[in-house]
Amino acid sequence: METCQSLEELRERIGDCQRCPLARTRTNLVFGVGSPHARLMFIGEAPGRNEDLQGEPFVGAAGKLLDELLASIGLDRREVYIANVLKCRPPGNRDPLAEEMEQCTPFLEEQVRLIDPEVIATLGNFATRHMLKTQAGITRLRGRLFRVDGRKVVPIYHPAAALYDRTKQDVLFEDFRRLKAVLDAAADEQKPSQPSVEQPTLF
Ligand code: SF4
Repeated sequence: METCQSLEELRERIGDCQRCPLARTRTNLVFGVGSPHARLMFIGEAPGRNEDLQGEPFVGAAGKLLDELLASIGLDRREVYIANVLKCRPPGNRDPLAEEMEQCTPFLEEQVRLIDPEVIATLGNFATRHMLKTQAGITRLRGRLFRVDGRKVVPIYHPAAALYDRTKQDVLFEDFRRLKAVLDAAADEQKPSQPSVEQPTLF
């Protein structure tokens, strides 16, 4: 797609998108939310039921957990950007189909280009596989740091997967502490007068 000057222009261009069959079953298109200049961007899979109804990503119980995780590292959602690979809800929360991905992912790519985050946290299997172009699962990939197109990519569990699993919640809080360390290291790398900080490849 042609490049845009701003997120507002991109949202306008997406409009009442009918590019894939999910347009027929969605209630609201869920574009994304947060700071257009965020240093940290979260990418999830697709809107769920609550997100579809409210038109905002990560609302409901999973959204509340995400807010708690952000607060644990001194951030709130106005300082980061949150988006999904797909902008409309697949019926019954089924996995996105290849045709839907093909039509929709150029919007995500343009969001990433416009926001230009230093660090991307991929939430769960689907977003992680998409961003890292891999078939490996999140359990194997979480806890590791990747670089894609000059950005740091940190795979973590999807908060929805940890809602009823205390062990996964503990892992998520731990991974957020590490995410903060990656962000801090990225900030130091931006300062020319400071020595660069060695990057971990494994948390
Ligand atoms: S999922 Fe993406 S491509 Fe499909 S209708 Fe929604 S915005 Fe358009």
